[in-house]
Amino acid sequence: MSPVDAAPRLLVRSLHKIMAEPDTGQTRLNNIVRMVATLMVAEVCSIYLTRRDGSLELFATEGLKQDSVHNTHLKRGEGLVGLIAERGMPVNLKDAQSHPAFSYRPETGEEIYHAFLGVPITRTGKTLGVLTIQNRTNRHYSEDEVEALQTTAMVLAEHLASHDGPQLSEDQRSRPQSLSERMLVKQLSGGIALGLIVLHEPRIVVKELVAETPEVEHKRLKAAIKTLRTTVDEMLKRGDMARLGEHRDVLEVYRMFAHDRGWIARMGDAIDRGLTSEAAVDRVRNDMRVSMLRQTDPFWRERLQDFDDLSDRLMRILAGKTETAASQDLPADTLLVARSMGPAELLDYDPEKLRGLIVEEGGYNSHVAIVARALGIAAVGEARGIIAKVDPGEPAIIDADAGEVHIRPDQELVDAYSEKVRFKARRQKQYEELRDKPAKTRDGELIALHMNAGLLVDLPHLEESGADGIGLFRTELQFMISSTIPRLKQQTEYYRKILDAARGKPVIFRALDIGGDKILPYLRHVHEENPALGWRAIRMSLDRPGLFRMQVRALLRASEGSTLRIMLPMVTEVWELEKARDLISFELDRLKQFDRNGPEEVLVGIMIEVPAVLWRLEELFEKVDFASVGSNDLLQFLFAADRSNPYVADRYDPLSMPAVQSLKKIVDTAARHNTPLELCGEMAGRPIEALALIGLGYRAISMPPAFIGPIKSIIRKIDAAEIRNITLQSIEGGGGELRQNLETYLQAHSIDW
Ligand code: PEP
Ligand code: MG
Repeated sequence: MSPVDAAPRLLVRSLHKIMAEPDTGQTRLNNIVRMVATLMVAEVCSIYLTRRDGSLELFATEGLKQDSVHNTHLKRGEGLVGLIAERGMPVNLKDAQSHPAFSYRPETGEEIYHAFLGVPITRTGKTLGVLTIQNRTNRHYSEDEVEALQTTAMVLAEHLASHDGPQLSEDQRSRPQSLSERMLVKQLSGGIALGLIVLHEPRIVVKELVAETPEVEHKRLKAAIKTLRTTVDEMLKRGDMARLGEHRDVLEVYRMFAHDRGWIARMGDAIDRGLTSEAAVDRVRNDMRVSMLRQTDPFWRERLQDFDDLSDRLMRILAGKTETAASQDLPADTLLVARSMGPAELLDYDPEKLRGLIVEEGGYNSHVAIVARALGIAAVGEARGIIAKVDPGEPAIIDADAGEVHIRPDQELVDAYSEKVRFKARRQKQYEELRDKPAKTRDGELIALHMNAGLLVDLPHLEESGADGIGLFRTELQFMISSTIPRLKQQTEYYRKILDAARGKPVIFRALDIGGDKILPYLRHVHEENPALGWRAIRMSLDRPGLFRMQVRALLRASEGSTLRIMLPMVTEVWELEKARDLISFELDRLKQFDRNGPEEVLVGIMIEVPAVLWRLEELFEKVDFASVGSNDLLQFLFAADRSNPYVADRYDPLSMPAVQSLKKIVDTAARHNTPLELCGEMAGRPIEALALIGLGYRAISMPPAFIGPIKSIIRKIDAAEIRNITLQSIEGGGGELRQNLETYLQAHSIDW
């Protein structure tokens, strides 16, 4: 058996032996180059490692002059070694010196060598360095030799990235440092979080590279591919990815990869050359990655993510590790990174340890974003390609407020952000001190501050924030995060838990607001051109009353002996309210027929979200027990500006006259009818908007819990009568100055906002 035939098995075995010795990092590298040179009959073997600035440094060599170790540097992309690192692929040359990229370094003494083979040392898409061999003769290295050197580089990469890596140098330069990087992302849930990366779907590290019996590996791969195809087909059927708004074509590409014969054949070839199934998947992934990155068509470059994802899945199936990181021991400051994630999956994690979430896909309105906000963690989306850029355990900072993620941040950045976090915590402490104090203005006006909620995880915020109750409980969220329609018993228990947690504070349950963009994957839905204006909320409930009635039944049962507040979304016409009330009465009668105890009283309210209602207020207020302005929807319809479209969502000022006059008309009419009124859209949590609402006469507002402290702190420093004067005078003057005038008031009274 020639030395090359013995590779890669012999090489790997010898490498492992070297790794097992209790040597320093540098001695190990020296031993490795010596061993590779011997076994591959090469006159030179060298290891170059990537430095923090992207340059490459000669770290160990057998055959080149020893003086050049740590003294020979190649800039990013410079020389053949730079080329290999940049392209991430092997270079095999008969005569290196005649290649245009060759960069002559006299200190190495390499002018006598002609044949050159270099392979990148890559790990999970990152180039850690380059491994080369050289010979005096003019010859091309064989395919087996290339394979053997690549396998050696794989083992080396593991070694460099393992816990051993840092020992490579006590002096700073020997550890190949990955560059820090800033990524622009989109906010899903506000906040700043510092912590350590945890991959939601853990990456499998290939430990066994070389297989004794290829037949066994072929069988394992075949079985794993079968499982992979089934899971992909199920995912597509379930609509996991469809929910992310991906185009159908893209989903087909995903499926196509899983069935791609070329991919499967390449992995089979790698097994034939002696690799284990896992190593074969990894090797082919690295090769394909290089060729896909070279594509100029952005479509294919983007599909690299799909391909990486599939390769990861396949590796997990092979390793028998298909569970997510939720079942692992997590660091105390976990920053979770996922390609995409369902809301229920996020809820599997220990909230005590979760600081932040980064997803490659998913927008502000995605369900996982809603859950992240409920959990109060910083979360960002559209972090394209982040999975390939990070390793588990690496430090990162999420600045969701600024829409940034910093991977492997510098110390100065860590210090600056730590200070920001401390500052926020100090403020939070001040708000906590206000928790049990009333939101009363200096002139004695009491403002009820309620919180918006939708999941059980929201409930601790009721106590923490000191909210006076729940002004909007979005019941559809329970339906959105489960995989089938929650049964009557489940719903009843759920509502009971909420009422128990509220300990007598009022809770307004909003009846199912589904349809539009809130699709329940298990319900058949019709395609709509304009879902926000479509068959949604009360419209759907009245046309298909089964679901609505089951919900009402559950709510009635859960509120036994207390007051049930039920609120109807998107009411547009009076008859819709009447019909819904009939259905509620029907269920109440039914309850009595079965001799079950119901609530002591049932209050039925409506949301004011449709501009047409502004001319139905008199009639509606005659027939309701309370009302709440859904300003998110009301303003999107008033300004004809889609609330979920970032190009137009913030285009119009919610304090401009059309909005303010509408809000005034509502509050004035409610006052005339003695109808309890509140406002539960996002604007209630913004300081200047909240002041304007108080100025207009609103005395109850409901907002995400995080805003209650800041809003209460402002309310306690203002004079309601003065705010009212400013608001009414600004309106009389045409309204253009309202925002400015309220800001001036706060400044004049040294109130921070
Ligand atoms: C609203 O429309 O203002 C509202 C509070 O309801 P949602 O945001 O759930 O549509
Ligand atoms: Mg709404």
